[in-house]
Amino acid sequence: MSYDPENIFTKIIAGDIPSHKVYEDDVCISIMDIMPEAPGHVLVVPKNGSRNLLDADPAALAEVIKRVQKIGNAVKTAMNADGILLRQSSEEAAGQTVFHLHFHLIPCHSDVARRD
Ligand code: 5GP
Repeated sequence: MSYDPENIFTKIIAGDIPSHKVYEDDVCISIMDIMPEAPGHVLVVPKNGSRNLLDADPAALAEVIKRVQKIGNAVKTAMNADGILLRQSSEEAAGQTVFHLHFHLIPCHSDVARRD
C-alpha cells in the first residue's frame, strides 16, 4: 500500500482544514482528536507524510518519537493523568482510518476503567 498525500491530516498540517493544535514544530503537529476516547486525547502527526509506521523512514521516526514522549509527558501533566495510552494503527485490519502516520496519546486515570 502506498502513501496518498490527499488525506485529512495533510490538509490540517497545511492549514486548509481547522484543528485544535496543541503543539507544532518543524517535525510534527499535535492536535486534539475530533472524536476523543477520553478527555485530553491528542494525536501526534508528523509533517513528513508516510502511510503508517510500516513505511516510515526510521531516522525521521526517531525524531517523531522524541516528540511523542515530550507531548505525552505534557498531556499527562495537563490532564493530571496517572498514565498515557499510546496507540498507533497500521492498516485497516489494525483499525487505521486515516492513512497518514499518527500516534494517539490518551490520558488514563487509575479510577476510570478502560474498555480496551
Ligand atoms: P486511526 O483510526 O487512523 O488510528 O485514527 C484516526 C483518528 O483521527 C481518529 O481518532 C479520528 O477521530 C481522528 N480524526 C479523523 N478526522 C479528523 C479531523 O478532521 N480532525 C481531527 N482533529 N481528528 C480527526
